[in-house]
Amino acid sequence: MLDIKFALTDNPKPKPDQTKLGFGRYFTDHMFVMDYTEGKGWHDPRIVPFGDISLSPAAMVLHYGQEMFEGLKAYYAPDGRILLFRPQKNIERMNETNRRLCIPEVDPDDILFALKEIVKTDRDWVPKLPGTSLYIRPFIFATDPFLGVRISKTYKFMIILSPVGAYYESGINPVKIYVEREYVRAVKGGTGRAKVGGNYAASLIGQKKAAELGYAQVLWLDGVHRKYVDEVGAMNVFFVIDGEIHTPSLEDGSILPGVTRASCIELLRDWGYTVVERKIAFDEIVQANAAGKLNEAFGTGTAAVISPIGELCDGGEQIILNEGKIGPIAQRLYDELTAIQWGKVPDTRGWSVPID
Ligand SMILES: *Cc1c(COP(=O)(O)O)cnc(C)c1O
Repeated sequence: MLDIKFALTDNPKPKPDQTKLGFGRYFTDHMFVMDYTEGKGWHDPRIVPFGDISLSPAAMVLHYGQEMFEGLKAYYAPDGRILLFRPQKNIERMNETNRRLCIPEVDPDDILFALKEIVKTDRDWVPKLPGTSLYIRPFIFATDPFLGVRISKTYKFMIILSPVGAYYESGINPVKIYVEREYVRAVKGGTGRAKVGGNYAASLIGQKKAAELGYAQVLWLDGVHRKYVDEVGAMNVFFVIDGEIHTPSLEDGSILPGVTRASCIELLRDWGYTVVERKIAFDEIVQANAAGKLNEAFGTGTAAVISPIGELCDGGEQIILNEGKIGPIAQRLYDELTAIQWGKVPDTRGWSVPID
């Protein structure tokens, strides 16, 4: 087991108002840190006060972007337990990303232990108001002070924690999505399947354009043909067409394999729905809508769980879905997933992992 050294703060911060948390603005009292050195492996795991770190201005991450991250949440259950949702899936994906970015892999058992220990250390920071949770952000970056382009020989692994507010404070409002045809997020053979900061850096311009036009998120099309649907912002996307559920397949490697996506597919199949993972041309969505067969569409991801799509705008064309309201399948998925995550229903699938 990882031998974590604890150096706890003697100056804890006041906790923020749970009704005004927002997302990613407040950080807890501690953080987990571990270093990697070639020849030595991962070493010096420690839990220390949350604070600034010092880094050489030549640190490779700052120049060539060798960095990865993950995102999951801890939920406060009615019986007082603190639950993680399928953390093993995030750890598995962490190592998939590491392999793609030539970052050394981590030991899955060590990382699960570290996740539990850092959340236990700051357990008083897990907010209790309905819909609130503790967002967990593990990340790794290259620290070699060197300006040549190569794989770094040293890294830092860190976990920071942020109490976050209810995503939907006044009911679930469907979002307006802009179909992006100029910029692309990922291509086959690229890093779309990996959770890396660089993907986000490349997508900001599309996000900015959409925001200027009054849209909340971007629908990304495939980078080669600009024809097939990839993702919506930082969410996977599902379409209900004539009662069947369709979602882009993972095979081209340009889509992030979401834990929420996998969980939705499993639930839907258990409920008897047909779920098809395939290449979906955006034109098909337009045609299904014209034929009155586009029942609903929604995004999935850890932050919002389910984000119904109320409107799709492609150039001059507009598609209004389900009269701009949440559809029954999105609602059912949202209700079931959030009930499992917050420990309100028995966990028959072994998805919830208590921290102790
Ligand atoms: C993290 C992420 C998702 C959602 O993954 P979850 O595991 O469900 O949170 C989807 N798309 C992108 C690009 C992401 O970074």
